[in-house]
Amino acid sequence: MFRICSYFLFAATLSAAPADWIWSARWVITENPARPAIENGAVAIAGDRIVGVGTRAEIDARFQAKQRLDRPQAILAPGLINTHTHAAMSLFRGIADDLRLQDWLEKYIFPAEAKNVSPDFVRWGTRLGCLEMLLGGTTTFTDMYYFEDVVAETSKEAGMRGVLGETIIGFPVADNKTPADALAYTERYLARFRNDPLVVAAVAPHALYTNSDETLKASRALADKYHAPLLIHLSETKKENDDTLGARHMTPTKVLDTLGVFGGRTVAAHCVWVDDADMAILKARGVGVAHCPSSNMKLASGAAPVERMLALGIHVGLGPDGPAGSNNDFNMFEEMDLAAKLQKLVTRDPRALPAATALEMATIGGARVLGMEGEIGSLETGKRADMILVRLDRPNAVPLYDAVSQMVYALKADDVRDVMVNGKPVVSDGRMLTLDAKAVLEKAEEYRAKIAASLK
Ligand SMILES: [Zn+2]
Repeated sequence: MFRICSYFLFAATLSAAPADWIWSARWVITENPARPAIENGAVAIAGDRIVGVGTRAEIDARFQAKQRLDRPQAILAPGLINTHTHAAMSLFRGIADDLRLQDWLEKYIFPAEAKNVSPDFVRWGTRLGCLEMLLGGTTTFTDMYYFEDVVAETSKEAGMRGVLGETIIGFPVADNKTPADALAYTERYLARFRNDPLVVAAVAPHALYTNSDETLKASRALADKYHAPLLIHLSETKKENDDTLGARHMTPTKVLDTLGVFGGRTVAAHCVWVDDADMAILKARGVGVAHCPSSNMKLASGAAPVERMLALGIHVGLGPDGPAGSNNDFNMFEEMDLAAKLQKLVTRDPRALPAATALEMATIGGARVLGMEGEIGSLETGKRADMILVRLDRPNAVPLYDAVSQMVYALKADDVRDVMVNGKPVVSDGRMLTLDAKAVLEKAEEYRAKIAASLK
């Protein structure tokens, strides 16, 4: 008997394909429509790629892994994708709340930035942002800030994936005094991070209302030259729309389209005040929308017509936007929950934006916004191994009838236990493996004292 068993075991081992990791869980949510949820499922990883997805029995039969992680009380899901944020602004967290966007920007943020933003500030602020994002299950973030080359270095140090855009804005800022300087800086940055496994370098003209037409056209030309995405804020407030309509008799979307800004991969953040004609443009040009429900609610900007955008086939992802006063965190679980609830509230229809749609927006939908759906956003063979294990052993996680509903409405960022990016574990049992969490938290306190003193 023993001999027969060991023979079969030997034969199975011989025929099994090698893998670096097998991760298994009570539920695997794949975001692959062909096989959406697998009970007692597992994923095999070799190098930076997923090589198998199935039941644990199937995966164990097919693969011989060097290491494994079995979480019988967890959900295994694709890593969450943040499509709009400003990570380094975490050092301004809560600096001024409960204000109008224009007052918040002009009276607090722009002066605080003028006095404090440096490469060191950006490095530590990005470390703090990456620490919070990774511990909360975000594996890819989309960023717009200054010294974006430093954001890219830090993101790689954290082992996180990033679509990282150098900001171009029509007044002097910490890293560049003119848009021409910013464009030159951006070009050096794009060249440096070309073909990086974790960083997609992007061009980020701040918005229509903070840039000249010439700068916006030059930004598009630069993005085209390097096949880079262009990131921009669009129609965030009613004032922005009213001002543009008053001055140019066109909506901001129409102006950007007329300038050719949407001529290549574009991610537009907010899109709260877009009308039917604007949405037709976004659809026709393939512009991805980063919906930021927390930020839009906190700043009372309005509710983006997400249900209509999705019905038109526009790609919509989620973003926490700014940690400094428009959110004030990077919690993608909160964004999923609020995205669903905000559409229900404004449409007065509880069927609007169901849980499955909210989770899709935070995963494969976000990947489509970024043009990366072939690489990330779902657990499928051939894709990059970006995934999270979320615990199901806490009071807010039981009982479980539907894993997707639990992810969106019941589980919290704090329930994330393990995180893998590009085949490498970066969070293990709630502990950060790549960054020195204690040093990051201490440095944030140091910066708080410095920043507070600078504003006196
Ligand atoms: Zn923003």
